[in-house]
Amino acid sequence: MSADAILTEKKELACWIARQLFERKMGPGTTGNLSFRHEDKIYITASGTCFGRLTPEDFSCVDFNNLSLWDGKKPSKELPLHKIAYELCPEDTAVIHAHSTYAVLWSCLSHENETDCIPQYTPYLKMTLGTVGLIPYAKPGSEDLFDQFKRYAPKSDGWILKNHGPVVTGSTLMKAFGRLEELEENCRIVWELQGKNGNLIPD
Ligand SMILES: [Zn+2]
Repeated sequence: MSADAILTEKKELACWIARQLFERKMGPGTTGNLSFRHEDKIYITASGTCFGRLTPEDFSCVDFNNLSLWDGKKPSKELPLHKIAYELCPEDTAVIHAHSTYAVLWSCLSHENETDCIPQYTPYLKMTLGTVGLIPYAKPGSEDLFDQFKRYAPKSDGWILKNHGPVVTGSTLMKAFGRLEELEENCRIVWELQGKNGNLIPD
């Protein structure tokens, strides 16, 4: 398969994933952004794009090292966050940031363990992703947010930006998508079990 054909396939898969997230209300309106690595570039959803109607033309192509625009539209303002995630997880080739309801709800509460903030009622989150850490709140797209992310993200395997939404990486786009779904599902479980006598499983 040629490099161009692989790129087209990745863009089409990214559009499919974006649509799934939109339909599941995990990326409402023009919120949420996703990216993948291809050769020495990052392809990220352009600023202001809607997950519900994303097309292969809606990507910005930027240089991995200096983030300068190579081709396409203006990138999402969260691009530096994606770059930090790739640097932290050099094996991974995809990053998804969503505004999914239960992860957002969970991120608005205080949690004792901020590097592993989702109590373990089922084994699947740890199996597919690992620990989920909370990143202190800062305005979306701000230098302050990128600084906080750089500082706190190395402590966990996946993240929820406080009062904002989750960020995951994956070795492929599908792996990142699966991890995000697992994270959201586990946030739903812990949210629903609040105040109830649920039984945690051992680590
Ligand atoms: Zn966001």
